[in-house]
Amino acid sequence: MKSILKKFSIFLMLVLLNSVGFGQSNEIEITFLGNAGFLMSDGVTNIYFDFPYKSGAYGYMTYDESELDKIKDNSIFIFTHKHADHYSRKLVKKLKGEIYAGANRKRIDQLNKKLLDFKIQSFKTKHKFSLTHYSYLVDWKGKRFFISGDTEHPETIGSIKNIDYVFVPYWILLYAKKANLDIDAKIRVLYHLYPNQHFDGDIPENYIVFNNPGMKFTIRVD
Ligand SMILES: [Zn+2]
Repeated sequence: MKSILKKFSIFLMLVLLNSVGFGQSNEIEITFLGNAGFLMSDGVTNIYFDFPYKSGAYGYMTYDESELDKIKDNSIFIFTHKHADHYSRKLVKKLKGEIYAGANRKRIDQLNKKLLDFKIQSFKTKHKFSLTHYSYLVDWKGKRFFISGDTEHPETIGSIKNIDYVFVPYWILLYAKKANLDIDAKIRVLYHLYPNQHFDGDIPENYIVFNNPGMKFTIRVD
């Protein structure tokens, strides 16, 4: 009996520490790491998308090796697919954490069981020269993030409603427009750009352009 009580009080202490230490986690921070790679963290759970990839692969962005040392322990790593500009076989081998590469619904459901405030859905989407490419919809406390990845096919992104932040390469925007598909997202985060890729004119208010690794933004819920 005593030991149960002891266990329970330790458990309670941990719960309290968690909610105090992390400000009850009503804030999520998104940090851009390069290409389609970014970290999503609410202070409790750290999820990396399409990182680590092979720095500089196919002429895309490089990142400093020190970024690898900054990777948080016990993180979750989700990849849209295994092309080198999204995924490094060599670096992934060294990771200490859970890896979900091109993860289908079943795999993602296993992950969901372990997550506290995140719920993720995976969608099989087509991509040239890749047999397993998945896009993901992440829900965090009612905020919805859609991570498109490398797909060239806009049907999936066009079918999802009420997205808060959509992570997209510019070509999916073009293909969606061509197909007359509306992307129902409040904010468009443009990613997977070439180094020094420029845009003419002003960036619209509902866009965030991930052109500099280290860029970050936070979202709060009350
Ligand atoms: Zn690819």
